[in-house]
Amino acid sequence: MIFDVMTLFPELVSYVLGESIIGRAQKSGAIEINCHNIRDFSEDKHRRVDDTPYGGGKGMLMAAPPIYNCYEHIISQSADKELSTRVVFMSPSGKLFDQKKAEELSKYDRLIVLCGHYEGVDRRIIDEIVDEEISIGNYVLTGGEIPACIVIDSVARLVDGVLSDPECYENESISSGLVEYPQYTRPYEFHGVKVPDVLISGHHEKIDQWRHAEALRLTQENRPDILEKYNKTDT
Ligand code: SAM
Repeated sequence: MIFDVMTLFPELVSYVLGESIIGRAQKSGAIEINCHNIRDFSEDKHRRVDDTPYGGGKGMLMAAPPIYNCYEHIISQSADKELSTRVVFMSPSGKLFDQKKAEELSKYDRLIVLCGHYEGVDRRIIDEIVDEEISIGNYVLTGGEIPACIVIDSVARLVDGVLSDPECYENESISSGLVEYPQYTRPYEFHGVKVPDVLISGHHEKIDQWRHAEALRLTQENRPDILEKYNKTDT
């Protein structure tokens, strides 16, 4: 899968996504992440990319032309015109991002992510090139770069070849409908607390039952909102 990020701060995104599992997935060729500096596409002699909003108001808005030029560049770069592509804009006014949306986006061949900054972007660019606006939460950040990293990280790990085994994400929190059961590793005893007996019993059915009961207990404690949904679909 190919990710193209349109941003004023490409280093911020490439640094975050260049490490660990996502970094290795880029090296192995399972995914490709290209960060494009919108400023490189400004036609202004001072490379300006923002301006004051019409009608007045505080702050600056990212102007439409450099973003559009950047978008055209991305599209024209691709040799394969048949790539299924989704364009998303990171925005606090978008629909709330969740695991289901990550799964949906991972089905595309290419995801183009537009990051806003300052007071946001000229509405006309959203109307012309963006398929959907995505928010990562009910709070406002200074820019779309961190939200873009969050979306790309969660989508990329669902792409074949990024994680060693699809089971890694099939049974984990949220995907399964519940939060994950508690996990333990060596040492057997830590600060006087031992690993629950059932986990060293070797009895797989009992382990599964214990894990399910613990997942239900933790979901009730931390995420009663998703437990309600789980109970409805489970019956
Ligand atoms: N004036 C905008 C508003 O009221 O909706 C806020 C702009 S915000 C300061 C600058 C940029 O940060 C946005 O254009 C967006 O790309 C990004 N951003 C901020 N909060 C976000 C969130 N919760 N989810 C996704 N992107 C966000």
